[in-house]
Amino acid sequence: MARATAGLLTADEIRRIGFPWSARMVERSRRSSGATVEACRAALAGGVAVNLAGGTHHAFRDHGEGYSVFNDTVVAARQVQADGTVRRVVVIDLDVHQGNGTAALCRLDDTVYTLSVHGAKNYPLRKEQSDLDVELPDRTGDAEYLAAVEAAVARAVREARADLAVYLAGADPFEGDRLGRLAVTKAGLAERDRVVFDACRAAGLPLAVTMAGGYAREVTDTVDIHWQTVRRAIEYGR
Ligand SMILES: [Zn+2]
Repeated sequence: MARATAGLLTADEIRRIGFPWSARMVERSRRSSGATVEACRAALAGGVAVNLAGGTHHAFRDHGEGYSVFNDTVVAARQVQADGTVRRVVVIDLDVHQGNGTAALCRLDDTVYTLSVHGAKNYPLRKEQSDLDVELPDRTGDAEYLAAVEAAVARAVREARADLAVYLAGADPFEGDRLGRLAVTKAGLAERDRVVFDACRAAGLPLAVTMAGGYAREVTDTVDIHWQTVRRAIEYGR
């Protein structure tokens, strides 16, 4: 992290992240992590909160990759633990790519439970081990996707015994996504959000939401999918 902020990354490390290095890129990444910290604190105070960025789950302790510089989820989980407001956190990562950085960072940490539901054949090719990984075949549609998500979220919430949930609401399982490889519709993703929000509400879990990935051929589709998540959060917060 110190080398990233000081501009001392090698050309190879910068290529792995996928963004050109600049002081502004570092500042943006820090603020995005700070916003997830604040979303967690706001969720603990008011039940639900959304960071309109974050979800950079491919960042590891010693390097970033896949457009992820810092792992905001883990930064935030550790910060609210340090605040003394939570003991255990459950990470519900439904971005279509595995939360490999999050899994690696928390593998030996029993206080952060990591769930990742992702495409089996998608990036990253070498997967890490989450507490619960669910791999989906290419072209998975709404019915299979929702059945897998519902079972996985229920199990994660039950096993984690957490005080706070962080939900990475990636828009990239969408059928029109350039990188997703799945075939989930917008309505299917809205239903996915409902499953997550209902599971957290039933368990009395405060919920912090981050955006994670979205690469639809039509950018307005990605915006629609994120917006339906935010709208669900607004309803849930009432
Ligand atoms: Zn993704």
